[in-house]
Amino acid sequence: MVCLIGKSLNEISKIVLNQSGHADHALEIAKWLYRKETSTFEEIITIPLILRKALDINSCIGKYNPIQVHESADETRKYLFENYQSQRFETVYMPSAKRNTLCISTQSGCRMGCRFCLTGKIGFNGNLSANDILNQYLSIPERSKINRIVLMGMGEPFDNLNEVKKAVEILTADWGASFGASNITISTVGLHEPLKLFLENPFCNLAISLNNPISHERKELMPIEKSNPIAETVNLLRKHPIKKPLRLSFEYVALGGINITERHAIAVSALLKGLKCHLNIIPWNSHEGTSFKSPSEIELNAFINCLNKNGVLTAVRQSRGEDIGAACGQMAGVSDE
Ligand code: SAH
Ligand code: SF4
Repeated sequence: MVCLIGKSLNEISKIVLNQSGHADHALEIAKWLYRKETSTFEEIITIPLILRKALDINSCIGKYNPIQVHESADETRKYLFENYQSQRFETVYMPSAKRNTLCISTQSGCRMGCRFCLTGKIGFNGNLSANDILNQYLSIPERSKINRIVLMGMGEPFDNLNEVKKAVEILTADWGASFGASNITISTVGLHEPLKLFLENPFCNLAISLNNPISHERKELMPIEKSNPIAETVNLLRKHPIKKPLRLSFEYVALGGINITERHAIAVSALLKGLKCHLNIIPWNSHEGTSFKSPSEIELNAFINCLNKNGVLTAVRQSRGEDIGAACGQMAGVSDE
C-alpha cells in the first residue's frame, strides 16, 4: 500500500488523478500532510468525501509515533522510532532560548565505521525512506516549535542521497512544510560522488566532518578517508562554492590526546585557507568500550587559541542530552526494555 508522507506534489497528483480527483486536491492534501497534524484521510475536509474514502482504501497517510522517549536534565528529548520494516532510529529535540533544533537520522545505524562514534560501532541496518525521515519531524509533539533541523542523527546522509534529498525538498517546498533551506543542515563525512551532485544544486547548509586534517591519521579514525580523502573533498568545495544564504561549516570531534595539538591546528588552517566557512568543535561524547577520552579544558583552549591565531573561525558546540545517550555520536537505536 502506498504511503503519502514522503511523496512529492507530482507523485500525490498522480495518485489523486488515479482516484478521479484533480490536481487542486493534490495541493490540498500536501498542505494537510506537511503543515498540519493530519494522521487520517477523514481529517482532510477540504477535499470531497468520495476521494477521501477512495484514498483510504488504496493508500495510507504513513505517519507513525515514536515507541519510546527519554528526557534529559537539560530538557533535550530523545525519541526512538521503529518503522514497518523493524528498523530502529533516533531523533533528538533540543530546545533553547535562541532556537529549537531537531536532529534527524537518515539511516538505521551507519556503515562508515568511524572509530569514535557509537552509531558506527553498531553497524548498518539499512537506509531510511523519505517517509521515515519526514516522519521524525511530523510526528513528534514539539513539531510546531522546531525552527532548525540538522541531519546529524544516525547514519551518513550522503550514503542515502536520493531519499534525503527528497525529504529535504518536501520540507522546504512551498507546497510542503515551507521550512527555510538555510535553517536545515546536512552533515557528511564528504563522500565525493554524492557531494558533487549536492554541490551542483545545494538544497540546504552543508557541514563536513573533518575531525583530522592529516590523511594518514584521519584514516585511522575514519576508514572512509582511504577512498574519499578530505583533501579532495575540500578541492570540490573550492571548485563549487556554496552561495548565500546557505552556509558551509566543518565539524571537528575533539579527542583528548589525539587530534587537538598545535600541529593539527596548523594543518586545519592550511587545509581550509581561503574557504568561506567556520569550524565547529565538538568535545568527544563518551560511550563504553573505547579508549578515547574527552579533551581537558586546557588542551581544548590551547587548540582553539592556535586555530584562532591561524585565522580559523571556531565555535565550540556543547553537546546536549549526554545523560540520555542523545549527544552526537551516542545514538545506538536501542530501547531500554
Ligand atoms: N554521519 C554524518 C552525520 C552524523 S554524525 C557525519 O559523520 O557527519 C554527526 C557528527 O557527530 C559528526 O560530525 C561526527 O563526527 C560527530 N560525532 C560522532 N561521534 C561523536 C562522539 N562520540 N562525540 C562527539 N561527536 C561525535
Ligand atoms: Fe556514521 Fe557519522 Fe558516526 Fe561516522 S560519525 S560512523 S559517518 S554516523
